[in-house]
Amino acid sequence: MKMAFDRLPGCTNLHRCRLCGKVVTHIRNHYHVHFPGRFVCPICRATYTRSDNLRTHCRYKHTLSEALANISTDQPVIKMDPDERSS
Ligand SMILES: [Zn+2]
Ligand SMILES: [Zn+2]
Repeated sequence: MKMAFDRLPGCTNLHRCRLCGKVVTHIRNHYHVHFPGRFVCPICRATYTRSDNLRTHCRYKHTLSEALANISTDQPVIKMDPDERSS
């Protein structure tokens, strides 16, 4: 994460983004401009980089459990195979 920024000499709080050249004060905030979270809350559009963080967010912020079904994007979809039948 810090590899994407160069700290400006003489300025302890200023960093220059190597990706777009913009000078920012908060590395963490600007980092998400280029690398946004993959997991998005379906209710309030909050983004998280980890699915378990989003699950915790939905559980405590929205007290929803059915919304969690739409979050597991990293899991393969289990589908029924119509051709599989015993003859
Ligand atoms: Zn940038
Ligand atoms: Zn939310």
